[in-house]
Amino acid sequence: MQTKDLAICLRTVNFSETSQVVTLLTREHGKIAAMAKGSRRAKSSFDGPIEIFSFGQVMFTLKETGGQLAILTDFQQPPRFRGLHANLRAMNAALFATELTEAFLEDHDPHSALFDKFIKFLETLQEAKDESVMLAWLILYQLRLLEEIGLEPLLDTCVNCSAPFSSGWKKVYFSSHSNGLLCPSCETAFVEKHAISAPHLAILQNPAKLPKTDRKKLHEIEQLLIYHFTELLGKPPRMAKYFT
Ligand SMILES: [Zn+2]
Repeated sequence: MQTKDLAICLRTVNFSETSQVVTLLTREHGKIAAMAKGSRRAKSSFDGPIEIFSFGQVMFTLKETGGQLAILTDFQQPPRFRGLHANLRAMNAALFATELTEAFLEDHDPHSALFDKFIKFLETLQEAKDESVMLAWLILYQLRLLEEIGLEPLLDTCVNCSAPFSSGWKKVYFSSHSNGLLCPSCETAFVEKHAISAPHLAILQNPAKLPKTDRKKLHEIEQLLIYHFTELLGKPPRMAKYFT
């Protein structure tokens, strides 16, 4: 059965002289891998070869049995995000978000709200002139992704003893494995942890402040998230090196 959806391309791999295998994030059907037969031919039903961040209406056929590639039959791709390719910093932030999205979402598991957030994120990156704005939006997207996959960090109490966070805590630590804060009494018993200063934590507790936060603070907050994603994935994300 032919299925129609809205999609953004997360990855392309050339399959033959004329075809591609693409990973798409679709709005209603989640992440899918699909064969685009003939997409590299000069004339095809795909508006030219499919590129990363190609965005538009797609038609595809899902196989009855799991684990097989869908067949992509149509992809109308107006040049919505071509501007990203002209700005290296914006592109790196977009690629980092893409890598994490691909790593953490399961195939065929729809996250429509996250899809909308991802498109909005790319639009913001494309228009942003300032590196701080790009970093703030990357952090906002990363937090949203964690929330969507059920891993929203616990940032208002100690995960070990439930003591409410207090600005009186001399040192604050975040444990990735416990997905939350460790209070000064509990942190000594934990090996796996990452220090975060109280002012930076206050920003994370109220992410609406992120777009107005200076670059140095954003950088430190991003280091905490990179630490967290590295622990979750069991290895550093490939794009993390551009943000450390
Ligand atoms: Zn505690």
